[in-house]
Amino acid sequence: MTFSNRFASGASAYAFVLTLALPSLHSHSAFAGGKGHAAHEHGVAAVNVVGEGNSVTIQLEVPSESIYGFEHEAKKPADIKKRDEAVEKLKVNADKIFVLDPSLGCKISSADIKPFVLEAEEPEKESKKEHKKEHKNHENHKQGTHSEVHASFKFECSKAVAGSSLKFAARGFFKSLRTLKVQVLSGEKQSGATIKDDKGTVQL
Ligand SMILES: [Zn+2]
Repeated sequence: MTFSNRFASGASAYAFVLTLALPSLHSHSAFAGGKGHAAHEHGVAAVNVVGEGNSVTIQLEVPSESIYGFEHEAKKPADIKKRDEAVEKLKVNADKIFVLDPSLGCKISSADIKPFVLEAEEPEKESKKEHKKEHKNHENHKQGTHSEVHASFKFECSKAVAGSSLKFAARGFFKSLRTLKVQVLSGEKQSGATIKDDKGTVQL
């Protein structure tokens, strides 16, 4: 069994693998899936990076507001256009937003983007309160409606990726996306970093 085989079947398998591999990290981290889901905060994305052999998988969960400017379901043609253009921008620029070491020769082998994932109700009172606090000043969503863009990008490289560094350039494409909460699993190694305004790198 390899990670790449497991990833082939999509996001739910991805979350499943990480749950198995990282039980302690999962319980209070941004890793995707179920209860471990990161708090929805505008301008903040959860980025989960898995390096294995010659491949890197990057999973992104980001409030829709930070990608296409609103969080209700796009129904009007103008909204659909705005959403689709932003999602396309994310898709075609994934290798510029997530900057792998050029010497690795990585190329995107697959991209899976879900443009509208409704934010689930927070089950705990405390997180609900925090959620409200985070959003009281935001105008770009209807009351009680939050949605996210979930994306997964897989890169195949010509060399082993362990030990390389990953940089970010999100704000040049999505200017309100200021903070990336990055978790890395590379081989057996786990690490994490909060990247603000694309400053800083993480090691695979
Ligand atoms: Zn929201």
